[in-house]
Amino acid sequence: MLIRINSAELTRKKAFLDLLKKERGALRLCFQKSEIIDIREIKKGAACGFLSRIKAFFPKSEIMLSEKEKFPMAAESRFKFPRKFEIIAGPCTIEDRKSYMKTAAFLKSMGMGYIRAPIFKPRQSPYSFQGLGEKGLEILSEVRERYKLKTVSEILSPCQIKETAKYCDMFQVGAANMKNYALLKALSETGKPVLLKRAQGADKKDWLSSAEYVAVKNSSIIFCERGDFGFFPEGGINFNLAAKLKRDFSLCVIADISHSSLGREMVSPAAIAAAAFGLDGIMLEIHENPHMSVVDGKHAVNFKEFEKILKSLEKFSKCLKK
Ligand code: PEP
Ligand code: MN
Repeated sequence: MLIRINSAELTRKKAFLDLLKKERGALRLCFQKSEIIDIREIKKGAACGFLSRIKAFFPKSEIMLSEKEKFPMAAESRFKFPRKFEIIAGPCTIEDRKSYMKTAAFLKSMGMGYIRAPIFKPRQSPYSFQGLGEKGLEILSEVRERYKLKTVSEILSPCQIKETAKYCDMFQVGAANMKNYALLKALSETGKPVLLKRAQGADKKDWLSSAEYVAVKNSSIIFCERGDFGFFPEGGINFNLAAKLKRDFSLCVIADISHSSLGREMVSPAAIAAAAFGLDGIMLEIHENPHMSVVDGKHAVNFKEFEKILKSLEKFSKCLKK
């Protein structure tokens, strides 16, 4: 952290340095010129409280933070999937027990470890299907028991967390709720991994700021890039941003290759792109009969198409090893 002290505030420098000495456990003063103080090695979480005190000392001065200092907790968040490239597939929404169990049995037979398990759906229109709601919890419980699949379930409000937590292994925060700060704070308390989607049109700063709320007490965050469809008409997954987040912060980043794909033909190439960009995995929507899907049938893939995607991913990873 660099503080460039405004000349009008230089008289406060000595008092400030005395304060720094008291904080020695949390940071290390690296060097100081007459008008520049460089503070290094700020311990996790210390920067936040400190920043407001620095601002109080030097309201006119310039405070320059590195990227990691701006998001001290989110930048430290770590989550590791069991596999190098994880796949979280499942329907857009659980429609009924029978078809969901069929999908679960298929995913298990394909060696999958996770399944999408949405029972609360964030819909633009109040007249659209809103998900099975709490009635769906029994299905989540059954799928875990029977197939030992880890369930990834979206919640829309803090009041849904307690009950859903009993049957869900990973909470999903959808694009529509990336800035639902009450929800993010509540998820920070759960101790379960949180899959945080980037909202359409949100930039890196918006995304990491939202993650910062979760990371206060929960460092298991999976960043999920879902593209900008809904904000820009052509959608498009921002692979550059996803890869940058991995490179600069070593975070766990996956891509939702369905919601911004503008049709199922784009899903397969997007899976390869996610692997090529070095991401940690993908999320995608699958349905036994996409044309009959209650929600998002246009981009869901059927079982055969899913198998093909797995094969092309395998081929791609073999090519890389050659
Ligand atoms: C979803 O994954 O079910 C979903 C609603 O997607 P998004 O939040 O990205 O629109
Ligand atoms: Mn969907």
